[in-house]
Amino acid sequence: MLATRARIALADPLAVLTPLCAHLVEHDAIVEAGPETMRITLEGATATLKPHADELEVMVEAPGLAALRALRSAIASHVIAFAQNQARPEIRWSGDTTGPSLAPDFRILAVTAVETLTPHMRRIHFAGEALDRFDSLGALHVRLFIPPAGLAEPVWPMLGEDGLPIALPSEQRPAIRKYTIRAIDPAAGTLAIDFVLHDDAGPGSTFAAKARPGDRIGMAGPGGRGLREAQRHIFLADETGLPAVGRMLAALPADATGLAIVEVAGAAEEQALARPAGMALRWLHRGAQTDSRLAEAFEELSWPVDGPDVYLWAAAEHATFLRLRAGARTRLRPDRDRHLVVSYWRAGMAEEQHAAEKRTAADSGKVTAPS
Ligand SMILES: Cc1cc2nc3c(=O)[nH]c(=O)nc-3n(C[C@H](O)[C@H](O)[C@H](O)COP(=O)(O)OP(=O)(O)OC[C@H]3O[C@@H](n4cnc5c(N)ncnc54)[C@H](O)[C@@H]3O)c2cc1C
Repeated sequence: MLATRARIALADPLAVLTPLCAHLVEHDAIVEAGPETMRITLEGATATLKPHADELEVMVEAPGLAALRALRSAIASHVIAFAQNQARPEIRWSGDTTGPSLAPDFRILAVTAVETLTPHMRRIHFAGEALDRFDSLGALHVRLFIPPAGLAEPVWPMLGEDGLPIALPSEQRPAIRKYTIRAIDPAAGTLAIDFVLHDDAGPGSTFAAKARPGDRIGMAGPGGRGLREAQRHIFLADETGLPAVGRMLAALPADATGLAIVEVAGAAEEQALARPAGMALRWLHRGAQTDSRLAEAFEELSWPVDGPDVYLWAAAEHATFLRLRAGARTRLRPDRDRHLVVSYWRAGMAEEQHAAEKRTAADSGKVTAPS
């Protein structure tokens, strides 16, 4: 058994411990309250937390380094998050894991092959280790860490002893972009991601255009909400949502029914998508016009509110997302689990700004869709 310990100075340890335990329970931890201590068990590791007058004593134990670091990191980052009304505590761990480490959900991927699917879609095959956690239809997307061009060796983000990211100088810092796992085989240690090659290419599109076997990127996650059980599935997407639609269509049970509408530039961008016989597939072509017709296609669907149990999944450019979300909220039962409508990119904005705008909108209560 490995063990690591910290004594964290806090003005009010209980004000941190109580929400921390409640939060981790929501994330599948088992929390047991003893007379003086709390015991948290998560993914094979156990933390014992003892509040004192002005500090929180923590001991984390696990049979392996990965599990030890994962729980250590979860405790440290949540202590800091829940101590926001107190002075920010300094956290120093002693014992079996000192020194910086990669985040528990971070993997390094190496390109093994590059496939041109259509003129503007590249499938990149990667090899990586310990991919099991990424094999989930309930969480389809990942954050890719794309090192800046010209670095002799990529520099990966590390977590410090307090479990929080160590800042990297800007010239070494990877760009972070969200992409969807199109196919994954953890036993073989492989996965594939489909990248749209677009004009005004940022780091994601540029990486895909230039990728060669041996190139490395980082990956963290997975995140988001994906497939749900339903009597009928409706998928709406542009090219950026097409990889998720393709993966979900292929994973639906043979008797699934519904419709997928995918908008692409033209016929040359269509792909063959494996799907159950009862799932219709309609392609929309933007052609010369730049405006999306996805929202109109959705509005034209006859879809009574009291119809069968339907799950709507939609991903598109921001302006279309706004229309789709408004339509989904008025036409569907306002049940959050019944629809997921997400802004996947925003015309004229790189992802950093798009993500920041989404966070601001979510904070002000205007947007409830996950990023
Ligand atoms: C959860 C999630 C999953 C996603 N999955 C995928 C996926 O599997 N495959 C995929 O290709 N994309 C996917 N996307 C979209 C992708 O993250 C964005 O398109 C991202 O902006 C691409 O990064 P970039 O570095 O190429 O461009 P950025 O640096 O972000 O942007 C540079 C410029 O390009 C424009 N731009 C960005 N994307 C597009 C586009 N698709 N078409 C035209 N112009 C664009 C921006 O508006 C900006 O002006 C996903 C997004 C989310 C939120």
